[in-house]
Amino acid sequence: MSKGIILSGMRPTGRLHIGHLSVLENWAKMQDEYKCYFMVADLHSLTTKFDDTVNLHEDTRQMVLDWLGAGIDPVKSAVFVQSSVKEHAELHLYLSMNIPISWLERCPTYKDQVAQFGKQGKDITTYGFLGYPVLMASDILLYLSDTVPVGEDQLPHLEMTREIARRFNFLYKTDLFPEPKALLGRFPLVPGVDGRKMSKSYGNDIAISSTSEEVKKRTNAMITDPGRVRREDVGNPEVCIVHKYQEIYNNQMLESVQKACRSASRGCVDCKKEVYQVMEDMLEPIRKRKAEYQNSTYNNLKEYLQKLNNLEEPSKNRQDGSLDESLVTEKFDIFWRNSGRKDKEVLKKLGQSVIDDYKAGLITLNDVQSLLDAKFDYVNLIMIKGKERAGKVASETIKNARAAMNLRF
Ligand code: SF4
Repeated sequence: MSKGIILSGMRPTGRLHIGHLSVLENWAKMQDEYKCYFMVADLHSLTTKFDDTVNLHEDTRQMVLDWLGAGIDPVKSAVFVQSSVKEHAELHLYLSMNIPISWLERCPTYKDQVAQFGKQGKDITTYGFLGYPVLMASDILLYLSDTVPVGEDQLPHLEMTREIARRFNFLYKTDLFPEPKALLGRFPLVPGVDGRKMSKSYGNDIAISSTSEEVKKRTNAMITDPGRVRREDVGNPEVCIVHKYQEIYNNQMLESVQKACRSASRGCVDCKKEVYQVMEDMLEPIRKRKAEYQNSTYNNLKEYLQKLNNLEEPSKNRQDGSLDESLVTEKFDIFWRNSGRKDKEVLKKLGQSVIDDYKAGLITLNDVQSLLDAKFDYVNLIMIKGKERAGKVASETIKNARAAMNLRF
C-alpha cells in the first residue's frame, strides 16, 4: 500500500554529476513506498535559460539516462517531460489569476537569483521568472501530491505551494488540492575536485557517466592538503578535498586515516586510490544499467510495454489472437509516409515481429503506436509512456479544477 503521492523533478542540465546521486538514490528508494512522478522540468529551465535552448533536447535525454542508471524504474514511476503534459501550463495559468504579486516578490530566492544573474549581465526579471513558485505549485498540485521530498532550503517554496492550495480551495469552496507535506532529506554537498562548487562549467565535476579512465583522472587531480609538500610532511585532513570525499563516501576508516595523515604514516596516493575505488564501485552498476537503456532492442522495448500493461490493466490485455492486422498496417503506412530512411529500415526489420506479437496478444494496438512514435528508441518510449501516465492524472485534476471554477464550456 502506497504511503502517498510524490512529484519531484530536475531541470534538464545534461549529464549529471555524483553530487546529484544522493537525491537520485532517495528517489529510487521512494519508488517502493510512494506513487512517484519524476519530471524533467524543462519549463522551469526556460524561466532563466529562455535564450539558450539549443541543447534542451539532448540534455533531457542525457539526464533521463542518468536517472535510469541511478535506479529510477520507469515501470514503477512515471518519468516524463513537464512541457509534454500541457496541463502544467494550464493549471499554472489558472492559479496565476489569484496569487497576489506580493507573495511572489517576498519569495526568498527571487531577489537573490535576480541579483546573481544580474552580476553575470543577465536580466531575469521576467513575468515567467516571478511566477516560478506558481509553476512549481502547479506541478505538485496537478498530481494531488501529498508529499514532496525537499532539502531544508526549499521549505519556503513548499510553504507557498501549501498557501496556493489553501487559497484555491477557499476561493472555490472545494477540497480538490491537498496541502503537501515535506519529506525532509539530507543531501551532502559534494565539492568539485578543486574544492569549488562542483560544476560541469568549472571542469571540476565527476560525471555519473564517467568512464573508469575519467574517474581516475579526476581523482588524481583532487586537491590534497596544500601544506603537505613532501611525503614525510604531516598532513591536515581538515583542508583536504580527498578527505572530504572519504568522509562522504568511505567513512568506516575515517579515524585511522586521519591519524595516519597527521603522523605522515600514510601518503596521499593511498587516499586517492581508495577514493577512486569507492567511486568505481558506485558508478559501475550505474554504467551497466544505463547501457541496458541505451541499447534499444525490440525485446527490451516489448518487455517494458508488457510490464506496464500488466501493472495498469492486467485483465484488458488478454487478447485472443483474432485481432485485425489491418489496424497495425494502417499505422505502419502513416509511419512510413512520415519517416526517413533510417526509420524505414528499422520498420522493415521489425515490422513482422510487431504484427506477430500484436496478433498473439503480447502487445496492444496502443503499444504499436507508442513504438512507432518512439521510433523504437527505449528512452523515447519511456518518455511517451510517462507522458501518458502523468497526463491521465493531470487531465482529471484539470477537469475538476475547471468545474470548481465554473469553467464549464
Ligand atoms: S594523506 Fe589523505 S587525508 Fe592526508 S592530505 Fe593526503 S589525501 Fe589528504
